[in-house]
Amino acid sequence: KEEVKSEEKPAVDFKTPVDEGKDYVRANATFVTLARNQDIWSLVKSIRHVEDRFNRKYHYDWVFLNDDDFDDNFKEITSSLISGNVKYGKIPKEHWGYPDWIDQEKAAEVREQMRQKQIIYGDSISYRHMCRFESGFFFQQELMKAYKYYWRVEPDIILHCDVDYDVFKYMEKNGYDYGFTLSLYEYIDTIPTLWNSVKKFIKEHPEHIAENNLMNWLSEDNGITYNRCHFWSNFEIGNLDFWRSKAYGDFFELLDREGGFFYERWGDAPVHSIAAGLLLPKDKVHFFDDIGYWHVPFSSCPTNKADRLKLKCSCNPADNFVWKGYSCTPRYYDVMEMKRPSEWHQQS
Ligand code: GDP
Ligand code: MN
Repeated sequence: KEEVKSEEKPAVDFKTPVDEGKDYVRANATFVTLARNQDIWSLVKSIRHVEDRFNRKYHYDWVFLNDDDFDDNFKEITSSLISGNVKYGKIPKEHWGYPDWIDQEKAAEVREQMRQKQIIYGDSISYRHMCRFESGFFFQQELMKAYKYYWRVEPDIILHCDVDYDVFKYMEKNGYDYGFTLSLYEYIDTIPTLWNSVKKFIKEHPEHIAENNLMNWLSEDNGITYNRCHFWSNFEIGNLDFWRSKAYGDFFELLDREGGFFYERWGDAPVHSIAAGLLLPKDKVHFFDDIGYWHVPFSSCPTNKADRLKLKCSCNPADNFVWKGYSCTPRYYDVMEMKRPSEWHQQS
């Protein structure tokens, strides 16, 4: 057998509930999924991956959120698959709809223009409510209040590799507040004025801007313009207390007042990413290079062969998006002054 060594991985030596039985102390954490009843069969596949690759060993809870009522079919199937406690929440109207300062006629005109320009989800009302909800309210839901850490899971995702340690305890132990697997450039047509609003926030709230932040990852000219880099928020492992902080609250409130969730099509991905990049010191953000992940149309796949073998990955390393031209993760490595995994250039 060819010998391949895993290089410079942080030693993570967590026991599992299988080792420790009833003595196992979980982190205060949950999975969270926003979904509709009709998403059930796409979601089943995601849950199966998460359970098989991770949660069957740890039995973390899972919270489902919906702007409508979940039906019995949805509840029966999801709860049969999940090895932790499962909870179902209905989002209150105030968290899923137009704030009163939004001019709905203006919003409708924008949607029509975006439809003609064929901007992805440009003509969708529900997608905008979803993005605003994920930006400002998922962490405020009653069912989420009991938890500190979360892992966001969407329908139709794949985990390519085993996750062989307790990622929530890993976040806790290392003091990480935000973890990602993929990053890329946002479509400018969805956020033309977002950065102007961000600059307004920086001016109004300099007290919230972290020293030693990731500004140089978000901007190539010290904050004058946004380079559109964002973490792909369909996967997130994070600290809910960050979203519940005064800093983020002030940030979201300003953005929400600006109206760009409706007059443009601001996504929760750039909103979360800019917040994590500016309000947190950069050592609170973590790239999970060991979590193989797919959400249409991109994959992350552990860069080095030794890791892929150890973690029983099913991904083709040639498909690893992390080092490709449209990925912002190489820039993240540079800004963090991190050494790239030795095999990265084979996948660029
Ligand atoms: P994409 O990944 O940007 O293409 O968007 P998705 O269609 O995957 O939506 C993002 C997340 O929001 C997924 O978890 C969806 O299940 C969820 N979602 C999107 N629209 C709605 C909606 O109108 N209602 C509910 N309850 N969930 C939604
Ligand atoms: Mn999705």
